[in-house]
Amino acid sequence: MGAKVSARIVDLDTTSLANDPQDLYREPQSLANLEALAIARLNAVLQTSIELPEILRLFFRELQRVASLDGLSYQHSAHNVEHNQGSVAGHTSHYRLQTRTDYLGELSLHRMKQPFSEDELRRFDRLVTALACPLRNGLRYLEAVRASLTDGLTGAGNRISLDSVLSREVEQANRYHQPLSILVLDLDHFKKINDSYGHVTGDYVLKMVAKTIQASSRCADMTFRFGGEEFVVLLSQTDMAGAKITAERIRSNIAHLALHFANQQIPVSVSVGLASLGHNEHKDSLLDRADRALYQAKKHGRNQVMLAEPLLACANQ
Ligand code: GH3
Ligand code: MG
Ligand code: MG
Repeated sequence: MGAKVSARIVDLDTTSLANDPQDLYREPQSLANLEALAIARLNAVLQTSIELPEILRLFFRELQRVASLDGLSYQHSAHNVEHNQGSVAGHTSHYRLQTRTDYLGELSLHRMKQPFSEDELRRFDRLVTALACPLRNGLRYLEAVRASLTDGLTGAGNRISLDSVLSREVEQANRYHQPLSILVLDLDHFKKINDSYGHVTGDYVLKMVAKTIQASSRCADMTFRFGGEEFVVLLSQTDMAGAKITAERIRSNIAHLALHFANQQIPVSVSVGLASLGHNEHKDSLLDRADRALYQAKKHGRNQVMLAEPLLACANQ
């Protein structure tokens, strides 16, 4: 028999559960008591976290207490969230989570062997309702955390996020003896772009440069705005040779950007400093070497990639 899929529409407006608790008792008393207990427990458990993955993990665990379930999947494409747990195949009950004011994503419950019974589906409807409020809070929290780590103009990571991601990546690369490279990019003569075409056009150029870096490096989550017109790209698991290819591609794609202001092409280019992590090197030293290489790239005429001095030679200076 093929896997059965049911699409469920439930009223997620949280007041419906709070205002109409008698609903729980319309079924035979013992079952209703059990379900009331399950919902009360679920409400309490879901309040213990604000982190979306944890809320979904707790929800799945609580559902498994009252029904045989093999997996749960959740997506919210606008928030770029995807969460899978257990085995997400077989028979499926699907929920579009929508309250009167908010779209909260798509939830699916999965069971491998047996299709869900009508009774189970009705019970899930009520349990899913308990997810609305915690899920909305979890999504808002996620957005707030992301916003705090993102540069508002370009959408790249900000300085705070660079600090923490760089620490994590350097620690991991040192521990597992994996290569790690870093690019520091600075727009060439950017002051002149502002002066010639205005600050708003300057902002637009910054946005397009960030977009080009992300598109050229296939590493969207590892691009950071370091300061005004400076960016940092972290290339994990990438040695000097690989990073050089990526750096050249980024430089070339930016130099070929055809951005116009009043029918005039805006000359955009970047200079790039590239450094690869040395043996047990500290993140500040890595960043410093890339920065010095960037300075050399500027000195040698801009619109070019310069490789940093190796760690030992640098330390001996
Ligand atoms: P160089 O090639 O040596 O890097 O020259 P440059 O003109 O790019 O460097 P400089 O440090 O002299 O100027 C950087 C300019 O970047 C000055 C500053 O006003 C501008 N800038 C910094 N942040 C922003 C921003 O968010 N938006 C805009 N439009 N301009 C910015
Ligand atoms: Mg600069
Ligand atoms: Mg500059």
